[in-house]
Amino acid sequence: MINESKLSFEQGPIRPPNEARSLLLRVTRNCPWNQCLFCSVYKEQKFSLRGAEEIKKDIQTARDIADDIKALSWKMGQSGLITNSIISRILSNHNYSYSYQSVALWLYYGTGECFLQDADNFIIKTKDFVDILKFLREKFPDLKRVTTYSRSRTVSRKSLEEMKEIKEAGLDRVHIGLESGCDPVLKFVKKGVTADRHIDAGRKVIDSGMSLSEYIMPGLGGKAMWKEHAVETARVLNQINPHYIRLRSLRVPVHAPLYQKLVSGEFKMLTDDQVVEEIKLFIETLDNNITSTVTSDHIMNLLEEIKGKLPEEKANMLNVIKKYQDLPKSDRIIYMIGRRGGAYSSTEDLYQDQTTYDKIKKLVLEVSAKGPDEIERFINEMADQYV
Ligand code: SF4
Repeated sequence: MINESKLSFEQGPIRPPNEARSLLLRVTRNCPWNQCLFCSVYKEQKFSLRGAEEIKKDIQTARDIADDIKALSWKMGQSGLITNSIISRILSNHNYSYSYQSVALWLYYGTGECFLQDADNFIIKTKDFVDILKFLREKFPDLKRVTTYSRSRTVSRKSLEEMKEIKEAGLDRVHIGLESGCDPVLKFVKKGVTADRHIDAGRKVIDSGMSLSEYIMPGLGGKAMWKEHAVETARVLNQINPHYIRLRSLRVPVHAPLYQKLVSGEFKMLTDDQVVEEIKLFIETLDNNITSTVTSDHIMNLLEEIKGKLPEEKANMLNVIKKYQDLPKSDRIIYMIGRRGGAYSSTEDLYQDQTTYDKIKKLVLEVSAKGPDEIERFINEMADQYV
């Protein structure tokens, strides 16, 4: 007899922040490109495709686990609902596999959303992708949304007809790491794609009827190319008009190849204040006829309130930046530390809690007393804890 609590299926290491409550299923392993200088996620890992039958077996396993959890709920007198008592029982008992626990949490959150991992799933043959998606929709007919990551270069190789077939089979949204719309920046960081390809891929996703989420990376142009990076990225997005523009500011992990260029001085990071100035220029350059929603839901972003629907909320976003830039330098430093330490999520928070403000102010004085560059080093170290 099968012990359902031991059942497991494969999951990859990452997902976008807004997919934290989605069911995660691994469709390919790692990244077929794996060369972007700023990225350390899959650097030691080899890309591989997974066979359609293997993936369908994982989907079936996820289904069996979900059914078993519902049966457990009935047995515990919870009428099939995934309540706190069901969750604590499953999470506190190590006899339940990680997959079992992750399906239980997904049912508990009740999002009905599913994210297909890893980095570039449009690399799968269209016929196989369609087969996998149809099977997923058949086994989980109540899914509200199915999404995946992919690279612009890979998406642009599919025909519009193929993209429509994939949409028809059940894929709703594609997350693309656009990062920059500036060709020299894209070349420098080895993104393996040009601005034109980004536009072509983005338009194709939209024309197929899928929703498009484009990630951009403030700071990626460094001190040498920040202006071109801001202006060209906005220019490319003006031509795509994606549903979502998501900000994910650059941090450079030690294992990312860009770190060596940072050490050698070939790449110079912007300070937090300079990144804010770059984002201001970027938002100012976005056309008033695009209708994307901007989000700043990544922990690496200093100002998570830069969010809103274009064009009507553009002024609000610029106002968030102005409020930050109008702060005295000493308060901007306090905010940076409070934000990186998890105490603040808005510049408004600065003056809500005098005790926290005073504590950080004292800390700033102590760190600054050690030397002229110490406070910047300290802030960078705090920000890097998230990479
Ligand atoms: S395409 Fe994405 S996952 Fe692959 S190396 Fe570049 S940033 Fe990393």
